[in-house]
Amino acid sequence: MSFEQQRAWMVQTQLEHWGIHDRRVLQVMGALPRERFVPPGERSSAYYDGALPIGDEQTISQPYVVAHMTELLALQGTEKVLEIGTGSGYQTAVLGRLAAQVFTVERIASLSQRAARILAELEIDNVHYFVGDGSLGWPEHAPYEAILVTCAAPRVPVPLLEQLADGGRMVTPVGPRGAQTLVRVIRTGETFKEEQLSAVAFVPLIGQYGW
Ligand code: SAM
Repeated sequence: MSFEQQRAWMVQTQLEHWGIHDRRVLQVMGALPRERFVPPGERSSAYYDGALPIGDEQTISQPYVVAHMTELLALQGTEKVLEIGTGSGYQTAVLGRLAAQVFTVERIASLSQRAARILAELEIDNVHYFVGDGSLGWPEHAPYEAILVTCAAPRVPVPLLEQLADGGRMVTPVGPRGAQTLVRVIRTGETFKEEQLSAVAFVPLIGQYGW
């Protein structure tokens, strides 16, 4: 099967099959070449229904998890989004195609640089990159209508709550190392409504408000 066919297969048998229904998310993930974001030795597994190693003991998230977390943000195309954990840049690219602007923070410089290069090749030019501790957010550009965290902390980092816009949504894994709960926080004024969603397993958020 060509990568294009594998991508269509992924949308049908993983995303739609497991309940993703946001047409924009399905369309973007059905067009984005995931094989560009995985190491050369992993390309034949790019559309596999799971996470894959990307080096530096980090992973590119499972396609369904990327779709599910993105769908939970309910992006309309006008938002300024903060992403913590750029990793391979795959999730970043999905956000870039669905929102107005994306600010993404990664603690490993080589991953950030590699992601920036791939997104530039794909002409996704509404993304801003920062290398540092994402548990502190990126206060200079706050507030954000949506925040997506792709690494897990023992609790929701307070700076991220502060940087969420009124009416904004944050999706983040929270819990002990190895097994966490996916949490969505919706801010209304100074009230933060927290929904506990599903069981997930993410790499740790290493930083001042993480591990
Ligand atoms: N969504 C990414 C993708 O699709 O490739 C997967 C990201 S990976 C699961 C989590 C990333 O979070 C890793 O690249 C890791 O280095 C990064 N990370 C961990 N702690 C961080 C921190 N404090 N600030 C920024 N990034 C961090």
